[in-house]
Amino acid sequence: MKRIIKRLKKEKKGKTKMCKPLEKIRNKSPEEILEECGAYNQIPIDLGKISQHYGISIIPDSFENENADINDEFEKVIGMVVVNGDNAGIFYSNIYSINRQRFTVAHEFAHCSLHTNRMQENYIEYRKNKLSKEGIEYEANVFAGELLIPPKFIYSLYNKTQCAVSLAKSFAVSLQVMCARLDYLNLKYYISSDAIKTVSEELFDLLAFQKGELSAYA
Ligand SMILES: [Zn+2]
Repeated sequence: MKRIIKRLKKEKKGKTKMCKPLEKIRNKSPEEILEECGAYNQIPIDLGKISQHYGISIIPDSFENENADINDEFEKVIGMVVVNGDNAGIFYSNIYSINRQRFTVAHEFAHCSLHTNRMQENYIEYRKNKLSKEGIEYEANVFAGELLIPPKFIYSLYNKTQCAVSLAKSFAVSLQVMCARLDYLNLKYYISSDAIKTVSEELFDLLAFQKGELSAYA
């Protein structure tokens, strides 16, 4: 009996041990992560370098099974973190624009740094299309915005142009994400009507954002 209890205790101890890749990234700020991974030298930010440095895989997925019975577009799963032993993987929906895919990955990296305590053995974190304006989802969005549009680059580029469309292009983020980031930094901007003709999908995102259907970042 004693031996069994000892073994169970040992197993329990093993289960609460944090996944190694998460241990490495936890509590790091977006700027610390970029510096550490050698990704703070150019834009668009290379998310692959972050994946490689921490050993967190990034995997495209259609989420067909997860979304099979979900008709509400805003309730659909578009990203997740899966933790299994010392493996951590980010799955992201590949049915949306590249910019949105990038933001989803950045959002999940944010959870890996900020919310590691929730990510124990076999933990799965889902990101849905609809996001709240508070709580951990909002925190992850702000973090993702800083990761993709870091201070080192945004101020110098903003001095050259205040057009949100061209800034969004430079950072490879959606127009909606760029507008939310500029709002967050209290930087005024304009949206050139000529430029927006080329980004119809992003116009949809922006209109949804203005109508309040999507959260501050998506
Ligand atoms: Zn999330």
